[in-house]
Amino acid sequence: MQPSNLIRLIKLEVGEYSNNCYVLIDPSTNISAIIDAAADPDAIMEALEGTSLALIVTTHRHQDHWGALERIKNQFPDASVAAHSKDAASLPLTPDIFLEHGDTLQVGSIPLRVIFTPGHTEGSICLVSGSLLFTGDTLFPGGPGHSDSPESLKTEINSIVTHLYKLDPDIDVLPGHGVATTIFESKLEYAKFASKEHDEDLHGDVVWSKS
Ligand SMILES: [Zn+2]
Ligand SMILES: [Zn+2]
Repeated sequence: MQPSNLIRLIKLEVGEYSNNCYVLIDPSTNISAIIDAAADPDAIMEALEGTSLALIVTTHRHQDHWGALERIKNQFPDASVAAHSKDAASLPLTPDIFLEHGDTLQVGSIPLRVIFTPGHTEGSICLVSGSLLFTGDTLFPGGPGHSDSPESLKTEINSIVTHLYKLDPDIDVLPGHGVATTIFESKLEYAKFASKEHDEDLHGDVVWSKS
């Protein structure tokens, strides 16, 4: 994982599903943001120490990605909670900001652009800032996130190919669980998948190289 020149990035692995909670800090202002307040609020608050929390973004509605959201919001009531409207109803509190594709959030001087990537859930989003792409459960090393139906998989792949694979190949892909990859690596893996025929019913935990 290459740290961006602009952002100070802290990755925490929290909860029983080993979720990645990312804390972003703008060194020039000490303003911070959280991507997926997944679990373990104490560990997250420790990572936030000395910063001013402005924003908590939730990538999608699955509970393992927002287990600490309420605790953190109670502790930092001035921080804005942001999510896509299509997944917002499942969150434990109403977001202050409903995100749309192309929106740009600010973490101090650092812009964070919203990419709407439905498929894993109806309201899944990714976030890009400089050389860092936060993909939630939409894209992992080796394949897309879980899909509940063949239609969802098609939607998810369309989101990935249309939006994520148009980004700079050097960008680091930082998923909601596990290790990072790059757009370059992911596109190579996908090219193998796309060159083969697939069962119409394909969905679930799809792996680019095995399907
Ligand atoms: Zn999920
Ligand atoms: Zn997840």
